[in-house]
Order: sequence, then structure tokens, then C-alpha cells
Amino acid sequence: MNGNTELKIFNTLTRRLEPFIPIEPGKVGIYLCGPTVYKPSHVGHMVGPVIFDSIKRYLKYLGFQVTFIVNITDIDDKLIKEAPLQNLTVASLAEKITQDYWENLKKLQVTQIDQFPKATHHIQQIIEMIQGLIDRGYAYPMNGDVYFDISKDSDYGKLCNRDPEQLEAGARIEVNAKKKNPGDFALWKSAKPGEPSWTSPWGEGRPGWHIECSAMSRTLLGDTIDIHGGGLDLQFPHHENELAQSESFTQKPFARYWMHNGLMKTGNKKMSKSEGNEIVVTELLKRHHPETLRFLLLNTHYRSPIEYSEDRLRELRRALDSYYRFFDRYQRICKESFYHLEGSQTKQDSIIQSSKNSLNRTLEKGTEKIDPTNPVESFLQEIQLCYQQFTACLNEDFNTGGAIGILFDLSSILNRFADQQGLETHPDKIEKPVMEAFKQGTLLFRELSQILGLFIEPVSSANTENTTLLDGLIQLALDLRQEARKNKNFAQADQIRKRLTELGVVLEDRAGGTDWRIN
Ligand SMILES: [Zn+2]
Repeated sequence: MNGNTELKIFNTLTRRLEPFIPIEPGKVGIYLCGPTVYKPSHVGHMVGPVIFDSIKRYLKYLGFQVTFIVNITDIDDKLIKEAPLQNLTVASLAEKITQDYWENLKKLQVTQIDQFPKATHHIQQIIEMIQGLIDRGYAYPMNGDVYFDISKDSDYGKLCNRDPEQLEAGARIEVNAKKKNPGDFALWKSAKPGEPSWTSPWGEGRPGWHIECSAMSRTLLGDTIDIHGGGLDLQFPHHENELAQSESFTQKPFARYWMHNGLMKTGNKKMSKSEGNEIVVTELLKRHHPETLRFLLLNTHYRSPIEYSEDRLRELRRALDSYYRFFDRYQRICKESFYHLEGSQTKQDSIIQSSKNSLNRTLEKGTEKIDPTNPVESFLQEIQLCYQQFTACLNEDFNTGGAIGILFDLSSILNRFADQQGLETHPDKIEKPVMEAFKQGTLLFRELSQILGLFIEPVSSANTENTTLLDGLIQLALDLRQEARKNKNFAQADQIRKRLTELGVVLEDRAGGTDWRIN
């Protein structure tokens, strides 16, 4: 396979929509910048993984063999600062937060990531790369640190399309007397006493953030990768610096396509640590089903900002409920679960392939031969159109929001067909081709939704209103317990805790409040 020329990707490097052509025919390597694991995942951490999980699913659907890497930054100033506050070592804090990250990804059905390389497992490759950059004249050691010299890299700034001076002005680069140019950045940082460190030719120290990604992507995906992804906020300085290091080291292009996803915002404000409005994923998932969050993240084009609000999530849950009702309807009509259509969810790849083939067979007749007065044929024609529109959306720079719109159209067509044909009202009078067509259309729906990683598993029928009510009732009990404690009525406070425990609600008191979860 020589690449699917219909697929186009907006490449940040060229600022153009370009046909997708991988380096090696039939194979795709994707590198996505992952988290620095020092605090529990917030919603923003899920955006890239969910989007690129769907992108990989689609590339696989097109027949590509895809390797998808997300790195874990497990050594950094932020970890060194946070670990003692939690009475943990840097390594154990990293381990704890990485587990939290993985659990959240799993809940969101992010299953397509092949490897999560950790920076601390690649120190040797990092040191080799830094030494290579020094040898080639692109970097210089200085009192135990090593810096990349941006003045030696003639095309530095090309990813952001700005010259180094503009970049410096925009990034509030710290003044550091050790550096030759203000924009030079650390490849290696000398260790202060007591900090985790590794032995290097420049003394005890640890890698800078940017070089970790250059070394890990090269180790796992080679000198040139097909797609490099990350949030828009990483474009500068992180990606510009990764690019500079890698290309200066290998003298080859670092990534063919740079893809940057839009960031979360809430109430017209960027969701960020500095704004103090980040939402912790585990907290959010107490109130909303993970599928609702995934649906939110895929509902816009990945390059647009994602508007987050509780109302928006509730609205999307109502939209999802209409799909869930259709799946119940399918079960009533066909006496089989939508979720078990054509095999099990553990064989996703084969479901996709077999359905693609069977749909092609159904549609082989071609539209010109379709009799518009025949309801089955015109139904099949409609679903064929949905299929074409769905792939057209994803071929246009992975427009998942548009693709979700087509899924909605498809479910409406299926419901209308079931109504018109009386599939529920007089099931015994249904002719075989009608039932076959309905199943075929539903199979297509399952097929396409799986490309987006949606509707993989049944969602419990507890609806949003109930979840909100439950939250409110538990909070009420917690407030009453707090009130009792304040009044030194400890017997009553204990009684409330005991009754909640009996109901399976586990309380965890912490400074400033009480967390709860349902066992
Ligand atoms: Zn990175």
C-alpha cells in the first residue's frame, strides 16, 4: 500500500493541508508528547491521547500498521518539588501519578498506545545524543550544565515560523549568565545535593525536558517520524527545541507532519494551572460517564479549542442517551446486543475489516442500479452515503466532530427505517432482506463508531440526572456530618459515616474537606 492519497493532514510545519504519505509505505509512526507525572491527570491531559487514539484507529482502518508512542516525563523540577510535600520519593510519586494517568486513559477507552517510554529509562540514549550535539558543535557544556546553542542552528524557529528574537520575546526566557544566547536551552542540568541524578561526562545531573522526547522518539521510531503530535501550548518552546535537537543530531527531517491539538477552555478562559481552573479527571468521572468525556473531546475538530462546562457535558449525555436508546431498540428487534455485533469487542480489528468487506459487497451494485421505489435499496443507498461522508470527514484532517455528526444522521436513518418497516410493531411480518438491511446498517454504525472509540462497551442506564441527584444527596450527608462534628456531636457524625459506608460510600477526610467514592 502506497498511502491513502485521500487522507489529508494539516501540517503545522508547512501551515498547509497536505496529502498523507508515510515514510515507509503501509507503516505509520506517531509520537505524542505525554505528561509530566507530578499531579493527578486533569482533563487537558486526556485531549491528545483521545484524539490520537481515534487517529490511530482510523489509520488502522485504512490499512496502515501504526506504532503510537506517548512518553512519560518522570524526572523534572516539578516532581522534585512535589515529592517531599507528599512524603514520597521522586520515583514513587512518578509511579503513583503514572498509574492515575493510565487508569484514566483506560476508562476513556484509550487503548491504542503501544508504548509509554519513561525518561529515566532512556538516560543513556539521552547522554549519547547530547554528546553527539556537543561533538557536532551545536551544544556546549557550562559548569555542569549543557546548553543547545540556537545560533548554530540556521533554521531554528521554523516550526513556529518566527525568528529566534521574536520567540524569545514571546516566551519570557529567564536570564541566565551561563548561556551564550538568551534562547539557548538546557539539554542537561547539574544536580543540586539530594536531587535524583545520573552520572554523565559533565558531572552528576539529569536531562532537560526537550531532549527526552528527541531521544525517546529516535530510539523507538527512528530518525524521522511520520506524525508528531501535541497540544498547541507545546509548539514553543518544547517542539521547536525537540526539532532543533533532533535535526541537528541526525541531519535528517525529524517529523513529516506536526499536528497540534486545540486546548480546553471554560467560560472563555483557557483551562490551565495558572488560571486555577483545571478539572481533575477522577473528580469529573464521579459526575460523568467516561464516554461522555470522550464524546466531548471528539466533538470538535481537533485543532479547535474544546469548550468545557458541566452544562455542555450534560447536554452531550442527553445526545448520547439517544444512541443508547437505539442500541436497546436494536436488541429488542434483533434479539442480540449491539455491543456483540459480529464478534466481540476484544477483536476490534477483525470487526472493522470484516464489516468493511461485507459493506463493500452490499454496495457493489453501485448507486446507478438502485431502484428508488424499493425502500430497502434506497435505505442502503442512504447508509452508503453516510459511510462516504464519514470517511470524507476523517480524510479531511481527521474531522472527528464532522464524523460524529454523520453518526447522528446514520442513527436517525436507522430509526426511521425501523419505524417505516414496523420492525417493532409487527416483527413476524418482516421479510428477510429488510431485516438484513437493518442489521447491515447497524453493523456499519458500530463499525464507524468504533473508529472513534465510541460505544465500545455498554453504558449503565444510570442517567445524568440521577448522577447529579446522587452527588447532591451525598454532599448533603457530608454537610450534615460536618455540622455535627462542628457541634462536637461525634456520635451523630460517626453514625452518618457508618450509614454511608453500609451503602458503599467510602469517605476520606483530608485537610479542607472530605472526598468520597462509591465502592
Ligand atoms: Zn515532547
